[in-house]
Amino acid sequence: MILCIRSLCCLVVLGLAASSFGQAKPFRVLAFYSTHVEQDHVDFAMQAIPFFQSMAQRDHFEFRATSSWDEMNPAVLKDCQVVLWLNEFPSTPAQRKAFENYMEHGGAWFGFHIAGWTDGRKMWPWFSDFLGTAFSGNSWPPLPARLAVDDPTHPAVKGLPASYVSPDNEWYSWQPNPRLSPNIKVLMTLAPSNYPIGFKDTLGGGDIPVTWTNTRYKMIYTNVGHGAKIFNSPAQNLFFKNALLWLGGRN
Ligand code: ZN
Repeated sequence: MILCIRSLCCLVVLGLAASSFGQAKPFRVLAFYSTHVEQDHVDFAMQAIPFFQSMAQRDHFEFRATSSWDEMNPAVLKDCQVVLWLNEFPSTPAQRKAFENYMEHGGAWFGFHIAGWTDGRKMWPWFSDFLGTAFSGNSWPPLPARLAVDDPTHPAVKGLPASYVSPDNEWYSWQPNPRLSPNIKVLMTLAPSNYPIGFKDTLGGGDIPVTWTNTRYKMIYTNVGHGAKIFNSPAQNLFFKNALLWLGGRN
């Protein structure tokens, strides 16, 4: 009987340990960035890196940033659970192939702003399918915009208000509308009240998604990520946290 109670206690202790381990399951994040790109995009990366480093300490995951895009190779990627593109994208065939294989075999990706730039399908057809669209136009100068949350039940936007003001950003439009792709689930959209937005370059209206996921992959793209004011919004910072933890398999 004593043995039985002991065994039971052991099982309970093991069970509790397993469940708390599960909640704080560690994962490794590798953020790629560049320093030779548009200064506003460098500024974003220079703020994103310490932001995610602090998050890594609080939320118990590993975070590393590299400006060497040649680290986008199978040997490095096999040890990463989430890859971030902070302000550029892979440019060589080897880097692109490594990323395709990584994503096709269970990898996770969080892409910001210029990471979603594609010159139509010519540049990288696989990526155009993965993103579900291509760059069409942009607003200028950077301005704040109200973002409407499309699906409040998605883990990446859980707890966010129905809409919030995202700090100064350059906003892109897309062709075709990613919402039309059967695999794309839109998470945030520029609210109609923003239009027209921009002075030198203007987005006049229409349905312009800002943040979405391709449900065939573990991925989130957000158009947010231009300049040094991005991390000034607590609501948006919550989105960054939710999204990264979801991509890391926390919920
Ligand atoms: Zn930009």
